[in-house]
Amino acid sequence: MEVPLTVKAFLDRGARIYGDRVAIVDEPDLAHSWGRVTYRDLARRAAAQAAYLDRMEVPHGARVAVMSQNSARLLTSFFGVSGWGRVLVPVNFRLTVPEVQHIVDHSGADVLLVDPELTPVAWEIRGPRVLVIGESDEEMWTSGAAPVVPRIAESDTATLNYTSGTTARPKGVQLTHRNLWLNAVTFGWHLGVDDEDVYLHTLPMFHVNGWGMPYAVTGAGGTHVVLRKVDGPEILRRVHEHGVTVLCAAPAVLHSILDAAANWEGEVPGRDRVRVVVAGAPPPTRTVERIRSELGWEFIQIYGMTESAPLITMSRMRREWRDLPSSEQARLLARAGAPTIGVDIEVDGHGEVLVRSNHNLAGYWRNPEDTETVLRDGWLHTGDGGYLSDDGYLTIIDRKKDVIVSGGENVSSIEVEDVLIAHPGVREVAVIGIPDEKWGEAITALVVPAVDDLTAEQLIAHCRGRLAGYKCPKHVEFRTRLERTETGKLQKFKLRQPYWEGRERSVN
Ligand code: ATP
Ligand code: MG
Repeated sequence: MEVPLTVKAFLDRGARIYGDRVAIVDEPDLAHSWGRVTYRDLARRAAAQAAYLDRMEVPHGARVAVMSQNSARLLTSFFGVSGWGRVLVPVNFRLTVPEVQHIVDHSGADVLLVDPELTPVAWEIRGPRVLVIGESDEEMWTSGAAPVVPRIAESDTATLNYTSGTTARPKGVQLTHRNLWLNAVTFGWHLGVDDEDVYLHTLPMFHVNGWGMPYAVTGAGGTHVVLRKVDGPEILRRVHEHGVTVLCAAPAVLHSILDAAANWEGEVPGRDRVRVVVAGAPPPTRTVERIRSELGWEFIQIYGMTESAPLITMSRMRREWRDLPSSEQARLLARAGAPTIGVDIEVDGHGEVLVRSNHNLAGYWRNPEDTETVLRDGWLHTGDGGYLSDDGYLTIIDRKKDVIVSGGENVSSIEVEDVLIAHPGVREVAVIGIPDEKWGEAITALVVPAVDDLTAEQLIAHCRGRLAGYKCPKHVEFRTRLERTETGKLQKFKLRQPYWEGRERSVN
């Protein structure tokens, strides 16, 4: 008989083979920390949670929203909720009351499980039953009662993940057990995850299910180290303390790690041991170089999106590149990468990246219009512009919505940002198009300076030597911070808004 591909398989394997081993090191500073959780305990607690939801009469198939910072409880809920046939809806803990209300209403969640710290938001939410998962939660995690075991089909929805909301209101992506299983196994295979691995959760777990790492690491018998405070010094300290071997990060986090490494006394921890998986936004080539030379960590990039659960491509050092100069290696690694096993990629006539894979979304929840727009003839339309090189590697040029059309030419905002960030006076930069009589859109750089005496003229001159004239910024504005999502992505629609009030942008 065939065994269905379900997310519980990861938990079952971990518990059966690695029972006494530490599965999770919870955040130690929490008032209600679980400390070290063995695989046997993890399985027991997940089952107790499922039994608790049975007692609460939350039916199988119901949506269970969970809003929590990274914690052992949240990780356990990945299995306790989806593993016994309910649909996990991870909610970004930074959202405001109306934003959470939108997700709760749209998903039709029966229950909202929340961290004690998040109750000020949760008590304002109307509709679902709100259960606090940190305090006096003996009942939820320790009951010995056996949960009802429903029949789960691979095609059943396991999670409903809301997109980051970088370009518009978050959309609910329905991912099936099969989607999540295939993504996790594919990721684990490409990355080589095994029982020696110690994974540091630098990524918020709610974000497309922590990119599948909660499942992959559990099935392999590795150890999860929970992290809440995502800043460079804290990350380095944990890497040192727990012998971390792998972590994931958005480019913005890499900079904070690099800053911390510069102030670290002695050898930076993890040299020749840590693999750092980067995604979410394109990493500047210079950052790739610095991660490799200053930290001695292996740099791996993935390109993906919530809609593909999320893996699409991976970029990792290859044997053929070993003899190349390190700057050339960094340039090759800075590309989004080669399609992972089982994924097909095409770039259509408009330059849009199309993806076919067994872990693409089943559809957007309660949103047939957008589902029809993104899923056509079996291809997922990513909304990202890119090109394929002869060696089969994909480079992302820009989100289609962020491409700037200036003087009839298409300019990738990312390409201009890459050049500007290489200037030592630039700490952060976002490049957007603003309305312009002559050019249609004028290229504008919003810059957070790293030094006091930086001028617009210096930056424009810096670009002149490195970019074709039409790509150089026409304006430079200095800022103290730039609007980002919680995973550190620039929200360019928000940055553009004040300039475009009352006008329509024509998008490619
Ligand atoms: P929304 O869809 O709500 O606007 P979002 O697209 O940011 O938000 P996610 O699914 O979290 O939501 O992010 C996927 C997007 O992130 C991709 O479509 C792509 O634009 C960008 N991205 C991810 N990885 C990379 C990468 N390695 N290089 C460039 N861009 C990337
Ligand atoms: Mg998107």
